[in-house]
Amino acid sequence: FPEPPIDAPVGRVGAGLYSPYAGSTRFDQLPISKNTKDGLREGKFTELTEIQRASLPHSLCGRDVLGAAKTGSGKTLAFVIPVLEKLYREKWSPEAGVGSIIISPTRELAGQLFDVLKIVGKYHCFSAGLLIGGRKEIELEKEKVNDLNILVCTPGRLLQHMDETPNFDCSQLQVLVLDEADRILDVGFKKTLNAIISQLPKRRQTFLFSATQTKSVQDLARLSLKDPEYISVHQES
Ligand code: ADP
Ligand code: MG
Repeated sequence: FPEPPIDAPVGRVGAGLYSPYAGSTRFDQLPISKNTKDGLREGKFTELTEIQRASLPHSLCGRDVLGAAKTGSGKTLAFVIPVLEKLYREKWSPEAGVGSIIISPTRELAGQLFDVLKIVGKYHCFSAGLLIGGRKEIELEKEKVNDLNILVCTPGRLLQHMDETPNFDCSQLQVLVLDEADRILDVGFKKTLNAIISQLPKRRQTFLFSATQTKSVQDLARLSLKDPEYISVHQES
């Protein structure tokens, strides 16, 4: 388990799970960096939603998470925060290359989550890029993609870079996120996703978030999930 930062609330041990912030309902009570807290304040986020409260203790401790909660329940911050914290704790520098890949099924959703990442990540010094199809700037993207730390992308565009961009390197990847995972794991993306996964290091943290719980054992196996934490939230408190 990572050492909690010194400003963390007093720890407690329960049910075999060491979690210094179990039960935190406000972002300022979480043992996360000041940079992230300032970004959350910037976005006017103060109280955690149910899925954030249920998943962050696990994701911030380095575990793989499969999270299910209905649309509008706040799944974006449930993965954006631990992505930022992982790179922060690893002292990721802008020159360190790709540290996290966040995959979204559509350009529109990718764009929306990129906007959230920009706000919450504002006080970190990571570089992030939105790689989605349908734009003409692929050549420009190819020059920049190797300098990005966090990639927010659609499956097709990511694979295009893996195939075509010289020296595209994600061998240091720390965190992989599949947003709307059920849609990305759907048959329509199967070939693309398999080709992507085969090029990613297996030793990494993986988050899957969607409105319904991903149950396919085969899917979980191909994603090399390690003893994942299953979290389902059906009702907002
Ligand atoms: P989902 O991905 O589960 O559909 P989103 O992450 O898109 O949900 O969040 C839905 C809405 O709730 C967004 O407008 C977002 O800004 C807002 N939101 C998310 N988390 C919080 C929070 N902790 N406090 C206040 N608003 C939040
Ligand atoms: Mg969402």
